[in-house]
Amino acid sequence: MRGRFAPTPSGPMHIGNASTALLAWLQTRSADGEFLIRIEDVDATRSKAELAEQALTDLRWLGLDWDEGPDIGGSRGPYTQSERTAAYEEALTALDRAGRLYSCFCSRAELASVASAPHGLGSEGPSYPGTCSSLTPMQREAKRLRKQPSLRFMLGSQPVEFLDAVAGPQAFPTGAGGDFIVKRADGMFSYQLAVVVDDAMMGVTDVLRGADLLDSTPRQLQLYEALGLRPPRFAHVPLMFGSDGKRLAKRHGGLSLAALRSAGIAPEEVVGWLAAVSGLTPTAEPVRASELIRHFRIEQVTTESITVTDGMLGQLIG
Ligand code: GLU
Repeated sequence: MRGRFAPTPSGPMHIGNASTALLAWLQTRSADGEFLIRIEDVDATRSKAELAEQALTDLRWLGLDWDEGPDIGGSRGPYTQSERTAAYEEALTALDRAGRLYSCFCSRAELASVASAPHGLGSEGPSYPGTCSSLTPMQREAKRLRKQPSLRFMLGSQPVEFLDAVAGPQAFPTGAGGDFIVKRADGMFSYQLAVVVDDAMMGVTDVLRGADLLDSTPRQLQLYEALGLRPPRFAHVPLMFGSDGKRLAKRHGGLSLAALRSAGIAPEEVVGWLAAVSGLTPTAEPVRASELIRHFRIEQVTTESITVTDGMLGQLIG
């Protein structure tokens, strides 16, 4: 069993990210598995090296440890996506050989004007209607003279089903979300491609992550299949929302681990609070992360999204 936590260093780590990290770590450690950290900075425009370093500091402060990661290395590194582009390029070559890629010349405006198709997947906007998949080679060459294309992965002709260890049985109809981008026109590889290549090459057997990525999973499963790779098991855990009803993010600055630490809150208090709101323990007593390993069971993890009310926060911040 090999698990991982894969933060995107685009903002300070907050209690929502910390909760996912803690649960992934507990799932792995309770199965006596190996845990790795991977920095997902494939989107260079959103990522900052200082934030990647801060994330490691925050995780360590919380009481988590890892067997492989960007700071300590390991046999399946590098563990930072910006250093792994050769592997992504290789995967694209394999997908191209399998006839699963095509160039897409659609502009942002054209894509935005596509009415949401019935099988749209929430996380990435309206379904791509496949416009460029039917271009003739001549049309394609003519367009290429004027515009650098992005590359899209052609979905298969089967529905996708899988059993999520937290969210339960999942079924997505054929073509859900539409053919998706694996490399942007500006040369950036997509999250979907990078995460599949990395999890496969790093031997990850169990992916536990936020429920916002549940509808990315059918796409990723299709990439695993097209690349002839064995997919991991998946568990998608509930997201945390602020009392404003919005997902926890940078603007909830006071809920970053760094802010809690400088307010004098102990890591055991944060872990105890996270364990309680995630459903692992009945009350938010301070506890070390390592003390939760023995009793951890994935079935205990709450399946409802978590709204962090002022009352709940009061238990943490006092
Ligand atoms: N890098 C993603 C994030 O920070 C997580 C990706 C994953 O776990 O698959 O939201």
